[in-house]
Amino acid sequence: MKLRFLGGAGTVTGSRYLLSDDKHRLLVDCGMYQGVKTLRKRNWAPFPVDPSTIEAVVLTHAHIDHSGYLPALVKNGFKGKVYCTKATHALCKVLLPDAGFLQEEDAKYAFRKKFSKHAKPEPLFTEKDAWESLKHFESLHYHESFEPVRGMEVTFTPAGHILGSSCVHVHHKSSQRTVVFSGDVGRQEDVIMRPPEPLQKADVLVCESTYGDRLHADTDPEEELAQIITKTAGRGGIVLMPAFAVGRAQMLLYVIHKIMGQKRIPKLPVYLNSPMAIKATEIFCKHNKEHRLSAAQCEMIDDQTEFVRTVEESIELDSARYPCVIISASGMASGGRVLHHLKTLLPNPRNSVVFAGFQAPGTRGDALVNGAESVKIHGEYWPVKAEIHNMDSLSAHGDYQEILSWLEQGQLKPEKVYVTHGETVASDVMRKRICEKFGWDAEVPELFDEVEI
Ligand SMILES: [Zn+2]
Repeated sequence: MKLRFLGGAGTVTGSRYLLSDDKHRLLVDCGMYQGVKTLRKRNWAPFPVDPSTIEAVVLTHAHIDHSGYLPALVKNGFKGKVYCTKATHALCKVLLPDAGFLQEEDAKYAFRKKFSKHAKPEPLFTEKDAWESLKHFESLHYHESFEPVRGMEVTFTPAGHILGSSCVHVHHKSSQRTVVFSGDVGRQEDVIMRPPEPLQKADVLVCESTYGDRLHADTDPEEELAQIITKTAGRGGIVLMPAFAVGRAQMLLYVIHKIMGQKRIPKLPVYLNSPMAIKATEIFCKHNKEHRLSAAQCEMIDDQTEFVRTVEESIELDSARYPCVIISASGMASGGRVLHHLKTLLPNPRNSVVFAGFQAPGTRGDALVNGAESVKIHGEYWPVKAEIHNMDSLSAHGDYQEILSWLEQGQLKPEKVYVTHGETVASDVMRKRICEKFGWDAEVPELFDEVEI
């Protein structure tokens, strides 16, 4: 069996791994590139193998950097099925059409502002393409094995990163080899997600390394957040939290309502301003057997959050002058409604902006957490006077220590580990740590490398 790295190599986005033998081709993850322009441009390159020759796709989870290229793959000739867990399917029904809509908006914007070299810029795919790709989906339960292509048996195990997230185990029957893709790996002690299930067997392991060179701060995130909110409210400011619509938005809502109930922060309105995050929250509450929150706790989130759905309500919220908390997408401030709030709130030192997840290089979120004095939004520069916080401790990715201890919990003796899904330095540090701790043979592959496994 051969494994080819078609993405997620040397960067955290664009996860795509191709497994093939003499007769069959299976793609694991079909992500979009995000972040700096050179990476985003890769989304426009022809897919490195003819999509019509791929028989099936298996997804680790719903985040766009793992699923977002699917509509383009289908548009370019992919005819097979897309397999994932039940919750991943539910979340993709929200995320993919939204991604198509955003592509169309971007193309229209480029046309209006004339910054495309094409007379009529086209979207990478449309909302309609996204709905078309969703017809190819088939969902399964964790631990239920299936054969997406003949001779390759696949199972999902919980990865603890977001709702529905999984490690993908592929057993190649004729060679009797098993390769495991970690996908994005969650935390050992996440507030809302259960820890990732230990891995039992892998001849080859493909492991993520988002935080391969970093440890999350050893602080109590609830206490840190309570202090930020109390201080900001005390000076009459607003706390803005750019958050990934799926995953971190639900965690933040839970933590904020919890500390408010314990009177550790003043009673103030909490807004969720993202139609996609609102839908993701509904899905999260519906799948309450898959995470740590009870039905009653989900109900509390539902009752105590002000959901901002329409554009009019969003504009009205933008003129709020009273202390409140606003959670809005996107998580790296690369698009979405959060941009309007940033324009209003950044220039005022009374306000605070709190980031709660990984900020990919080249994004506005990355610039802000690294102390930018101004940021460009909608063609204009906005001064950064608000307090900026980067709460890594709220991330949905395990740091290197957590990933190593997760690997240690399993019964693994892989012959080879490929370290992916990290910036160059992070992946290399992770590789060294895996070699040193376990004595396993680990390597950081380059984009388009193909290996025999
Ligand atoms: Zn993810």
